[in-house]
Parts: sequence; C-alpha cells; structure tokens
Amino acid sequence: MARLGFALALHGGAGSSSLFLREIEKKDYVQTLANALRIGRVHLTEGGSSLDAVEMVVRFLEDDPKFNAGRGLALKFQGHHELDASIMNGRTRACGAVAGVETVRHPITAARLAMDKSPCIVLSGADQFSKEMGAELVDQDFFHTDRWVKIWKRARKNAQAAMNEYEKHLGTVGCVALDRDSNLATGGLTIKRYGRIGDSPLISAGTFSENSACAASCTGIGERFIKSSVVYDASALMSYKYLDLVEAAAYVFEHKLPNDSGGVISVDCKGSVVMQFNTRGMYRAAADLSGRFEIAVN
Ligand code: ASP
Repeated sequence: MARLGFALALHGGAGSSSLFLREIEKKDYVQTLANALRIGRVHLTEGGSSLDAVEMVVRFLEDDPKFNAGRGLALKFQGHHELDASIMNGRTRACGAVAGVETVRHPITAARLAMDKSPCIVLSGADQFSKEMGAELVDQDFFHTDRWVKIWKRARKNAQAAMNEYEKHLGTVGCVALDRDSNLATGGLTIKRYGRIGDSPLISAGTFSENSACAASCTGIGERFIKSSVVYDASALMSYKYLDLVEAAAYVFEHKLPNDSGGVISVDCKGSVVMQFNTRGMYRAAADLSGRFEIAVN
C-alpha cells in the first residue's frame, strides 16, 4: 500500500469546563496538549505504529492530573476510583478494553494487554490480569487530587450539586492515529461513576477503528454515545454509503446526538482529521505530515 504519511488527533474531554479557566490555566492545558501531540508526532514521523502512538499519547495524558482520567480521575460516590479504557487496531479489528480497574496506573496499557494477550475483548476489574501481564500497579492514593476530593466531599452532602459539578467537568482522554503504513488506531479512557460503565470501554460506542473507513474516539455523555453506537455509525456511513469523514461525522451529530452531548475526534485512511463537538468546548489537538499542529480548548 502507498505510504501516506501520518495524522494524529487527541482530546482531553468535552464540556464547559474550559470556559471557566483563567488565562494561565488555559496556557497550561495548551502546553500539555502540545506536549502530548509532540509525543505522538515524533513517534509517527519516525515510522512508529499508530497503535503505539495512541498508547503513548494516552499514557501521557493519563499521568496529567488536569484531565479527568488516570491520575486526575474523579472519585466515585463511594470515595474510590475505577477506570475504564479501550484500544482498537483498524487493520485487524483487534481490540481490547478494561472496565473498573482500581490500581492500574495506565489503563490504556491494560486495554492493550487485553487486546494482545487475552482471548477476550472486555475484561472487568482486570487488576489481577494487568499485574500478571506486568502492568504497573499503584495505590488508589495515586489517583487522588485535591480538586476531586473537595467535589466528592460536597457530593456526600448534596448529590445533585455534585452531579452538576461532575457534568461541568466531563472528562476523559482519547487519541486516534494514522501511521505511515496506512493503519488506523484509537484509544481512550475515562472515569466510572456510581457503578456505571460509560462508552469509553465499549467498542463501537466510544472507540472504533476500521482501516477502510476511520478511527474515532468519543467524549461526553456516554449513554448517548452507547445508544447510537456513534463511532460505529460514522464508520458504517463511510463503508456502506461512501460518505467522506466530514460528511459522516456531520451526519451522526445531526441525527444521533442531541445538543450538549460531547465530541468525537476521528481520522481516516487519507489522513483527514475531524474534531467535532456540540458542547461549549472540547480540549483537542491535531497534527499531520503537512505541518498542521493545532491545539484548541474552546
Ligand atoms: N464518555 C465518558 C463516559 O460517559 C465521559 C467523558 O468523556 O467525559 O464515561
């Protein structure tokens, strides 16, 4: 297959939280997104695989306490952390996901291990599996941040007020990439609230990659993405109806996602990138071989 260069996009969650940032905080987000983008770009320009790029970028974002994922994860109502993640290879359609892990520092790596080393796709509570596969484990304290501890304490007193706060800080992180061998990959992770599982560990809802169509990762109100199999739909519109990526994304937003649902980042096999959302903002960034290096928070 012809070598097409590379393209990469990532998100750090959709919602309205970016509207409340002070200038200095905004700069900090931009800086972090730029660093994440550079990590993926260097890897892809050196001929690395899209799968590795996605895993590296998501690991970097997982470790940044600003994002509601990994280290900066919200506390569940019961006062502890649970994490979900998924990853998918667009060439083989191999995929892996973990839901509700509690001690894995990099859930995206646990999802990759589920994909590479397990005959299953989705593993619930995969801490033991991750340990056996050599993933790094940490104490729950590792995920604690003052911001979420404060919100959680308020939640104990007034659940509705705290839910509103959670909604404002819709989070999660995700990444999609096209590599020089024309392979697409997607990966992302999220919080898990009140025993719920969102769209992030669900292939076809929050994560999907198909080389002949697109790789896409969602962020926002997971239930809406699950109900409409949003990323699978976008890919199917490309495969069955020959829509291009821009048209497919526009279609699912118009027909499947009520306003204020969230956002999607996606890349196709030609290197087109779409980062679309219907919330007030989405932390996002994209880079490609043409020199594009774009970062935005609103
Ligand atoms: N989609 C995630 C979920 O519903 C949350 C988010 O992306 O903000 O679990």
